[in-house]
Amino acid sequence: MGSASVASRGFRFRLSAVGVLSVSPNSPLSLKFRLDDTSDDPRDVEGRLEVDTLGPALLGLVGDLGYRTRGPATVSGTVYRLKRDLFVDAHVEAEVEFGCVRCLEPRQLSVRVRVQRVLVPADRPKVASEDDGDEPATEDEKDALDHYEGDKIDLGALMQEALILELPMNPNCADSQGSPCANAEEVLSAGRADEDTVDPRWAPLLALKAKLN
Ligand SMILES: [Zn+2]
Repeated sequence: MGSASVASRGFRFRLSAVGVLSVSPNSPLSLKFRLDDTSDDPRDVEGRLEVDTLGPALLGLVGDLGYRTRGPATVSGTVYRLKRDLFVDAHVEAEVEFGCVRCLEPRQLSVRVRVQRVLVPADRPKVASEDDGDEPATEDEKDALDHYEGDKIDLGALMQEALILELPMNPNCADSQGSPCANAEEVLSAGRADEDTVDPRWAPLLALKAKLN
């Protein structure tokens, strides 16, 4: 019975390991993790932006005219770390609904955005003093960096921001499956003016995009 008992112990060990470790080394990370969970080997990350946070964020942008979520947004990609810099390469996807700004027809839009970002510690000194002798970052490079606090990473806000930036400013039928508005005359009268003239009711989204960019 010696071998049977060894196998049994092995089985129990694996069971308890699953219970003790919240994350096994090869399973995908969720959107919240610790820097120590990553290495210089790319590791999968998977998660969702739930309706109860994404929904209000979209709806709050422009009130009744805004976007509504049809479900959670999904995030999948990889992360890896060099020293304390975290490199993120992921896609965020969502299905949203909106009312066409021209004909008011309810429409749907599939959004898929690639998000490539570098997260650096929030406490990093502004002037580069790394021992690898990097040149100080230019303003553009600093703008491209995101920050994390302590060793805690939360990609949720980053992904939500990227998704919002990708949404059209004046969503109309042509944004949804590429089909034009049913009322062609209305489209013609709108002309191309709306390419650079935004309905004032969308100003809050415009302001947010300006701030995030
Ligand atoms: Zn339309």
